[in-house]
Amino acid sequence: MEKGLLYRGKSKSVYAEDDDYTCILEYRDSTTAGNGAKKAELDGKGALNAEISSVLYQYLEQNGIETHFIKKLDDTRILAKKVDIINVEVIVRNIAAGSFSKKYGVPEGRPLKNTVVEFSLKSDQLGDPMMNESQVTALGIASQEELEVLKKTALRINTLLSSLFDECGMVLVDFKLEFGIYDGRLILADEISPDSCRFWDKATGRKLDKDRFRQDLGDVIGAYREVLRRLRNAQQL
Ligand code: UDP
Repeated sequence: MEKGLLYRGKSKSVYAEDDDYTCILEYRDSTTAGNGAKKAELDGKGALNAEISSVLYQYLEQNGIETHFIKKLDDTRILAKKVDIINVEVIVRNIAAGSFSKKYGVPEGRPLKNTVVEFSLKSDQLGDPMMNESQVTALGIASQEELEVLKKTALRINTLLSSLFDECGMVLVDFKLEFGIYDGRLILADEISPDSCRFWDKATGRKLDKDRFRQDLGDVIGAYREVLRRLRNAQQL
């Protein structure tokens, strides 16, 4: 194993630091879809996601959400607080799309009467199965109190990001969050980028996220670059 490498995920690698409190996240160009069934190297994606996620985490920090982000080290690497990851993914949905549309037979693009918050087990081997709250607590993955904090924080993040993306002429359709424990507190970890969100252009409906890769729509990097360009012009940042 490469020196200092703690973990190599599908699109990021995590490296140890000399202390026990921080680690280095490296965003790579690797892209996967369908739980790893489809793979590609997209030149420049790592740098774009590192920058987009850093910009968004700083915005969330400014608005009272604690994240693992400490600072950017270079184009593709950030220094982060080293957390114990909670083994559930938290998915927030404003509009039906993706697996939700497929599973419940709802046309993509249908607005939802309320924001949906879902949990799924972080397990590539099992295909990230959705879990209800009693399943999460029964398996000791998180306590009910922690689930309440996760839900409340995820909804607050949704409000903050929806407002920011609206200003940028984009609709925030859905996104996935991961949290971890740091110094006894539950904080936001992982990333928020076009790999983990769906964004549609408000005027045209054009997809500006990883669905361009999943659905072979072309110009994936152009779309990610457009997301960053719009964020750079946002007044709220
Ligand atoms: N998502 C993710 N990682 C996952 C599963 C989902 O980042 O392992 C994101 C995905 O990009 C989308 C949202 O979470 O923005 C909801 O995804 P969905 O459940 O619809 O699954 P998908 O259609 O992506 O398989």
